[in-house]
Amino acid sequence: MALDEYRKKRDFTRSPEPKGSAPKRRAPLKKTSAPLFFCVQKHLASRLHYDLRLEWHGVLMSWAVPKGPSLDPSVKRLAMHVEDHPKEYGTFEGVIPEGYGAGIVMLWDEGTWQPEVEDVDAALGKGDLKFTLDGYKLKGSWVLVKTRREANSWLLIKHRDYWSGALDIAEFAPLSVKSGDDFPAILAADTPAIWRTNRPVAGGETGAMLQGIIEQAAQLRAAAERARKRMRRRNS
Ligand code: MN
Repeated sequence: MALDEYRKKRDFTRSPEPKGSAPKRRAPLKKTSAPLFFCVQKHLASRLHYDLRLEWHGVLMSWAVPKGPSLDPSVKRLAMHVEDHPKEYGTFEGVIPEGYGAGIVMLWDEGTWQPEVEDVDAALGKGDLKFTLDGYKLKGSWVLVKTRREANSWLLIKHRDYWSGALDIAEFAPLSVKSGDDFPAILAADTPAIWRTNRPVAGGETGAMLQGIIEQAAQLRAAAERARKRMRRRNS
């Protein structure tokens, strides 16, 4: 089934990620079917990247975009095709303490998508899928084009339209569409002490970024604890 690879990579006794239910068979979609879901998850793992997921045949087709989507049509963003994820993954936000993808996941954008082609499977097979996004942050026409450089390597490109432009969307709109939180707040809501040892990434730019997030999360948690104590004193 489509989720075999997704499940093989993860230990669901140690990860809060949804195991998901696989669709029984690849039912052909009717023209009249419900709108298709899409999301982008900002994922701080060994590297910061953005996971674009498009619902198709009951699962989420997924591409990891290291630099994130760009609204500038002249910018082609590398998008590595990765394993299908369960539909339930589309609302996931939280902390993966260890193992595959260990780090912090933020629901950065969500909405619906629409193919701009008649036959999506044929377009995927050809390596050229044109589609429209209707999210909070990403809108309008896009294309995913397979490159010949490497297996699984695609490019994500914005088409020129009302929603394209020079705005750096990742910088302009960095927060979660689910919680409104940034990475430190997502970690603070979980277990900020989780990576006192055995950080998912230690060195380099990403390591430094995670270090800062851990410190901010610990401060947020300490401030919340102080507020709780004040409330308790007041109420006793
Ligand atoms: Mn990822």
